[in-house]
Amino acid sequence: TSNRPSLDNFWMPFTANRQFKAAPRLLASAEGMYYTDIDGNKVLDGTAGLWCVNAGHGRKRVADAVARQLQTMDFAPTFQMGHPVAFDFAEKLAKIAPGGLAAKLDRVFFTGSGSESVDTALKIAIAYQRAIGQGTRTRIIGREKGYHGVGFGGISVGGLVNNRRVFPQIPADHMRHTLDIERNGFSKGLPHHGIELADDLERLVALHGAETIAAVIVEPMSGSAGVILPPKGYLERLRAIADRYGILLIFDEVITGFGRLGTPFATDYFGVVPDLVTTAKGLTNGAIPMGAVFASQKVYDALMVGPENQIELFHGYTYSGHPVASAAGIATLEIYEEEGLLTRAASIADTWQDALHSLKGLPHVIDIRNLGLVGAVELAPRDGAPGTRAYDVFVDCFQKGLLIRVTGDIVALSPPLIIETDEIEKIVSILGDALKRVL
Ligand code: PMP
Repeated sequence: TSNRPSLDNFWMPFTANRQFKAAPRLLASAEGMYYTDIDGNKVLDGTAGLWCVNAGHGRKRVADAVARQLQTMDFAPTFQMGHPVAFDFAEKLAKIAPGGLAAKLDRVFFTGSGSESVDTALKIAIAYQRAIGQGTRTRIIGREKGYHGVGFGGISVGGLVNNRRVFPQIPADHMRHTLDIERNGFSKGLPHHGIELADDLERLVALHGAETIAAVIVEPMSGSAGVILPPKGYLERLRAIADRYGILLIFDEVITGFGRLGTPFATDYFGVVPDLVTTAKGLTNGAIPMGAVFASQKVYDALMVGPENQIELFHGYTYSGHPVASAAGIATLEIYEEEGLLTRAASIADTWQDALHSLKGLPHVIDIRNLGLVGAVELAPRDGAPGTRAYDVFVDCFQKGLLIRVTGDIVALSPPLIIETDEIEKIVSILGDALKRVL
C-alpha cells in the first residue's frame, strides 16, 4: 500500500529480514501495552520491545523530560566537563543499586548500550586485577550459552555460535563453562539440580591457572539463549569458587535489571552479590539508548590511585552520561518508583505462571519455564528443520495481534511490567491458538 516505505535500500540483520518477509508489517506507533502497525492494526507487546520497555510504551513523563533536556542542553562531553543531569541520575541509581544495603554496587559508569556495558565491565575487571598487582590475570570466563551483546568483548566471552560464526579467530583464546539445561521442568520454585555445573569453573581454573583469570561473566538468568534458569545454588557456588581464586564475578543484567524478576535486579532476587553488574535496556525504558555498569566500592577503590584519584584505565564513550539519555533515565526511575514497577513482577508472577502453564499439553510444547515476568515455551523442533516451528508460531501470533520473540525453538515472553491480568490472558489465548494451528 502507499504508506509502505520501500525496504530495498535498507540493510537489516538477518533475523529481522526473515521476519519481515513472512510478516511484512511495520510498527508505526506505541502506547502502553500495544504497538500499532502502519495499517492501523494493534499488536499486544509480549516482549516489552526487546526486553526493555518495562514501564510500557509512550510514557509522557519520559517524553517531556527528553524534550526539556533537548532544549536545555542537547549534548555535553561528560567525561571531559561533566553536567549535573548525569550526576543526578548516577546518584538516584546508587540508591537502588544491586546488592541491597549490605554490599551495594553503587559506583556507576554510563555507556551507550548493553554491548558497551559488557566491554566496559570486562575492561574494568582486567584493570582491577592489574591495579591490585595481578597483572597476569587477563582471561575472562564466559558461559557456553552466554549472550553478552555483539561487541568484540561480548562475542569473545559469549557462547552463542551465531554471534561468532564469521569470526573463527575470536573464541580461540577464550574459555567457556557450561550451563545448558535446555529443559529443567521448572514449576514453582527453582529446580534443585544442576548446581554441579558451577564446578565446571573449577575445571577451567585447574586447566589454565587462577593467576591467568580476571573474571567470570554470566547472565543470572540467560535470556537470548532461550530463557535458561539457574539451578538453585548455582550462582552461590560460582560466587564461592570465584572468591576462592581471586576471580571477579560479573552479572550481565542487561535483561534482568530494572524489575524483570520482581526485584530491582537479579542480584537481589538470587541474593548473590557480584563485583560488577552490566545494565542497559530498562535503564531508560528503551526510549533513549543508554547503558550503565555498577561496580562495588572495592573495585572502584582499587582503580583510583594517587592523591588525586587518577584512574589508569582510559575508557569512556562520546555518549557516556549523555544528558538527554540521563534525563530519560531519571524520568524512567521516577515512574518505576511511583508505580512500584521494580517489584510489580513479584506480585503478578503467580498469575503469569498459572497462565503460561495452562499451555501445557498443547501440540509440540515440551517445556514451559517462567521467572518473574519472563516466560518461555519450548517447542519440539521439526524434523530436520530446527527453529522453523517456533518461527511459524511467531508469524501466526503477529497476524493475530501479539508480538512474541523466538529464539531457536523457544518462544520467549517478557511483557512490560505494567501488564494486567486480561492482557496476560490475551497473550496465552493468542499463543495457545497459534500452537494449535501450527503443524
Ligand atoms: N547482554 C545481554 C544479557 C543482553 O540480553 C543484551 C541484548 N539483548 C546485551 C548484553 C547487549 O545489549 P545491546 O543490544 O544494547 O548492545
